[in-house]
Amino acid sequence: MDKGVSAIRSDFPVLERRVGDEQLVYLDNAATTQTPKQVYDVYEDFYGGYNANVHRGIHALSHEASVAYEEAHDRLAEFVGAECREEMVFTKNTTESINLVAYGLGLNELGPGDEVVLTEMEHHASLVTWQQVAKRTGAGVRYIRVDESGRLDLEHAKEVIGPDTAVVSVVHVSNTLGTVNPVKEIAELAHDEDAYVLVDGAQSAPTRPVDVQKMDADFFTFSGHKMAGPTGIGGLYGKRHLLEEMEPFLYGGEMIRHVTFSESSWNGLPWKFEAGTPPIAEGIALAAAADYLDDIGMDAVREHENDLAQYALSRLGERDDVEIYGPPAGVERSGLVAFNLDGVHGHDLSSLLNDRGIAVRAGDHCTQPLHDKLAIPGSVRASFYVYNTTDEIDRLVDALDGARERLDTYLSERYHDRIYDHHRNPRNASGLANPSFTKHSEETSCGDEGEFHAEIAADGTIERLGFESRSCAVSTAVASMLTEYLEGETLETAAELDGVVADLLDGEFPDLRHDCVVGPEQVIREGAAEFLDASEK
Ligand code: PLP
Repeated sequence: MDKGVSAIRSDFPVLERRVGDEQLVYLDNAATTQTPKQVYDVYEDFYGGYNANVHRGIHALSHEASVAYEEAHDRLAEFVGAECREEMVFTKNTTESINLVAYGLGLNELGPGDEVVLTEMEHHASLVTWQQVAKRTGAGVRYIRVDESGRLDLEHAKEVIGPDTAVVSVVHVSNTLGTVNPVKEIAELAHDEDAYVLVDGAQSAPTRPVDVQKMDADFFTFSGHKMAGPTGIGGLYGKRHLLEEMEPFLYGGEMIRHVTFSESSWNGLPWKFEAGTPPIAEGIALAAAADYLDDIGMDAVREHENDLAQYALSRLGERDDVEIYGPPAGVERSGLVAFNLDGVHGHDLSSLLNDRGIAVRAGDHCTQPLHDKLAIPGSVRASFYVYNTTDEIDRLVDALDGARERLDTYLSERYHDRIYDHHRNPRNASGLANPSFTKHSEETSCGDEGEFHAEIAADGTIERLGFESRSCAVSTAVASMLTEYLEGETLETAAELDGVVADLLDGEFPDLRHDCVVGPEQVIREGAAEFLDASEK
């Protein structure tokens, strides 16, 4: 990058901060990137200089806000290679952009016999949305396979995309595998069948040059907070004629042209899709983010991302206790690597890394079906951006040394003695052969997975409880505590559990791991309530 990493880092004061006694190493960029001064200065300029609503006021402030907000649309249109402002709709984020298309177009165009084609590496933002719209319209959903090397199987894509395909929604860069998908080829296959193509660019707009016309996407979606911009703003590119034909997604002020007591007509593009007061400062700040990235150069950003990913792959690949997901070293990647360390649950590992000032993410990264396919409950993801360095990756890899041993100290120092005790000596930590009921749970946000088994006596007493856990150490210890506590109690007690773990821990709740502590209680409560319900029927 012409602008060196140290010059870039000086634009991000947050990178100077410490976490505890440690210098922050921020490697959670695929979730949200940090924001440079050049972007958040926009807020001071806007709120200190020309804060007003857009499009409605005949006064100087409103005019200035309107011009800046409209120009922001031009700027983002240019950033993704759209032809004109009309093709750039501002939304809240990628999720809303996908919903806008699924509802505005999908609900009207899909029906029984039609198929929506997704990929096995789709983010829930796309997978769940299309799944629901397909259900409502009677359409089917098919998935393009991810092969062993973490790439899309293009031969399978050719089989799956056919005459019944009405929509193909494909993620450009996988937020879990780092794979860069051949969206142009997929768009060609889709268009040969007259299907619409939506490209989820949440991870590509921030990390590489995007040209929606070259890739021939009908729709392209992205989020500001993943590209050095603010939260609360995202974008939807759509081919003009398609946006013109589509129904609005949200109704209200701003998006109308003329309203009577019986009828309304719609404003021109892109305003037809921006109902109500929009995120004005956010839109203007997003344009500043596009300026910031273009100043670095998107080709340079892509190269930096790939270099860091390849470096991380080689450093992590030196270890035989690490399993890495996604394309092998040497294949272009976006700047992220998901992995697991033997014997340490991802959630525990991210706590240990946090202790060293290193921010990563653990869980299924909103790609639960992909994790199911990989047969893992979750993974740890380190993701990089323009300000990250190979030294930071070294710190990450070094911090994996001795993690398992440190976990023990970590738990004994941070948690109630009872958690530590149950961690060291879990009770009832095996399934039961003939349970009266089992309750399985998968906690998508952190990658916890486990199952409670219960043997219930004829009078409704809990005779035995057992559990199997692929969850973090804290959740597992709490599950163990609960099985011990509930033995001999009634099913009703289990079905009404509410805060017993807090009592067992004398109210000592850890800040960062609240969900791990309350999660198992909720699972038992639900399992017992469902069993009671079923027995009463
Ligand atoms: N698609 C992909 C590939 C993502 O990585 C994400 C966020 O992680 C989304 C969609 C959803 O983005 P947002 O939460 O900003 O709507």
